[in-house]
Amino acid sequence: MRTSEESREGALSAKYYGASYEALESQDPEVAAMLISELERERNGLQLIASENFTSPAVLAALGSTLSNKYAEGYPGKRYYGGCEEVDKVEELAIARAKELFGADHANLQPHSGASANIAVYQAFTKPGDTVLAMSLPHGGHLTHGSKVNFSGKWFNVESYGVRQDTELIDYDELRDLAVKHKPKMICSGATAYPSLIDFKRVREICDEVGAIMWVDAAHFIGLVAGKAIPSPVPYADVVSFTTHKVLRGPRGGMILAKAEHGAAIDKAVFPGMQGGPIMSAVAAKAVALKECLQPSYQRYAKDVISNAQALAAGLVDEGMRAVSGGTQTHLALIDVQALGVTGKESDERCGSAGITLNKNSIPFDPQPPSITSGIRVGSPSVTTQGMGVGEMRTIASLIARAIKEPTAAAKISGEVKELCRRFPVYPEN
Ligand SMILES: *Cc1c(COP(=O)(O)O)cnc(C)c1O
Repeated sequence: MRTSEESREGALSAKYYGASYEALESQDPEVAAMLISELERERNGLQLIASENFTSPAVLAALGSTLSNKYAEGYPGKRYYGGCEEVDKVEELAIARAKELFGADHANLQPHSGASANIAVYQAFTKPGDTVLAMSLPHGGHLTHGSKVNFSGKWFNVESYGVRQDTELIDYDELRDLAVKHKPKMICSGATAYPSLIDFKRVREICDEVGAIMWVDAAHFIGLVAGKAIPSPVPYADVVSFTTHKVLRGPRGGMILAKAEHGAAIDKAVFPGMQGGPIMSAVAAKAVALKECLQPSYQRYAKDVISNAQALAAGLVDEGMRAVSGGTQTHLALIDVQALGVTGKESDERCGSAGITLNKNSIPFDPQPPSITSGIRVGSPSVTTQGMGVGEMRTIASLIARAIKEPTAAAKISGEVKELCRRFPVYPEN
């Protein structure tokens, strides 16, 4: 039997607790080499995918821990297996931190991902065949908001609202008209590629008028809410679902906040409705991330994420591109590249060859199909975590423009990207 001090020393030397790179390398050098290559990829290129971030080493430690071994179906104090004393404490702490951070009545941290969280939301408030109103996919909505290839579009009647063609902002008049016409059980706000803020008060009024549940899918922007950089949907919404790995900077996973009266329905929908046992290592990592979000340094981070996204968008506009909806109020910008005579797909590929990872993205009323698109989406969460600021965003805008305009210079641009990234190392203590 080891004393707890011996266990701690063992943990610190990473011999038998949690993540031990040495153990992996000696047992499975093939996979170990791939992990190292991925770390190098993250270090040597610019990561501008708006839904990605770099978690802290503390979050990674919790993720790679022995909590992964424990089955804990159920909730703290009401488990279906024995031996849950320690994981109960972890989940209770995580729930308490989530409620404190967001001022929420109820929190469920068990969903394995954002899509899983959304399955639970549908299950808590609707039956197959019910009508739901959500943001149209070509205007920025997510797969789980009614795509025909997703459960949401197959099992539910999802009606869609979009943005106005002139402003490229959500058309709340259309949203209200559609709500009155279709009488949806639930109205979803939230998107994957919408650079502006959402008027939650207005959405609440529409929900009240037609008696719909107000569901906010906050996957993209919840980190900005956590950092108090943009208004929160929590006071307005019946239920808020989100991922924990985007701006929020936690482990890959999902979470749901709800008003007190919906807490039991949400918990039942997550387990046993949608999942079996929770991934307790991920729940612990969510607790670690939530503590980070409660620090003043995270609030500074969230504000910097927005000023960086704005500087990046402005820089791309100076290079002859167009920012959809006139710019950004969040962590991401949607950029129309048509004026450069290229498609989104070509821009994405050319930037990739130059060491800049971003994604092609449909713009509202896009003349191109989703496999080609006329736009790119760029996000600032990762580069801001690295410590880059507004000056670097200007440099990045010019690197993106050169990568798109001069595809033959990809190798040279890639060298400059590496040089920039070397000045802002990812996981520098490793
Ligand atoms: C990312 C995202 C999701 C899905 O999250 P996964 O963890 O990839 O399943 C759901 N909704 C929105 C709006 C998102 O942006």
